[in-house]
Amino acid sequence: MSEIIKTQGVVLRKINHGDTSKIITIFTIDYGKVTVIAKGVKSPKSKMNARLETFNFVELVYYNKQSREVQLLSSVDILKVFNSLTEDLTRYKYASAVIELILTLLPDHEKHERLFKGVVRILDLLNKSDENAKIIFLRFFVFFINEIGYKIELDFCQECNKKLSESGGVFYSYVEGLMCDDCSSDHLISFEFNKELFNLLICLSNKNNLISFKENDLDFLITFFEKHLAYHISEFKGLKSLKLF
Ligand SMILES: [Zn+2]
Repeated sequence: MSEIIKTQGVVLRKINHGDTSKIITIFTIDYGKVTVIAKGVKSPKSKMNARLETFNFVELVYYNKQSREVQLLSSVDILKVFNSLTEDLTRYKYASAVIELILTLLPDHEKHERLFKGVVRILDLLNKSDENAKIIFLRFFVFFINEIGYKIELDFCQECNKKLSESGGVFYSYVEGLMCDDCSSDHLISFEFNKELFNLLICLSNKNNLISFKENDLDFLITFFEKHLAYHISEFKGLKSLKLF
């Protein structure tokens, strides 16, 4: 027996299957990541194909059977198309990185409503906001890391509990996390933050407005978060989307 499911989702990936069908991975609000087959969509008469582009926010109906991995898509309607994402290379790159995080690091069938809403919001911002796309992405990256359980403690030294804001420099070790000046000498340190860089990290995490920043520092933070995740999740090797161009 299969049940009919109607839900909303963001299209993550579309791949060809045989001569006429496509396999679509969708991040849904109610059922997490779901894979469906869209039959006959490669026919010129099919209206479904264009609705199933990556990044599209859609409402879908599918037949769900617990015993199978790929469900049968019945219909799909557009809720929102983020047009600018495919027209601007920078926006495209960071939107692809958002999708890649969900595709590679979120388990299938795990409902995560806050993260879902965060993805829709960030795609909308990348689509229309004039703010630097790298900053929009970094704010999402911090939110994502917190949501999947790998939050980095920013307030206190992980060794002595001293306030990190009162430390001259801040130091990161993969094992302990962030530490103050005094504690850093006893540990293997992989990343060092001067005051300016640490303040930038705090601003991004607290969603404060950024008054000034260096492009290099943003790149440093993206690398830092990638390495932090890669240490905790061995399958993760960094974001391929960000290396495309
Ligand atoms: Zn300390």
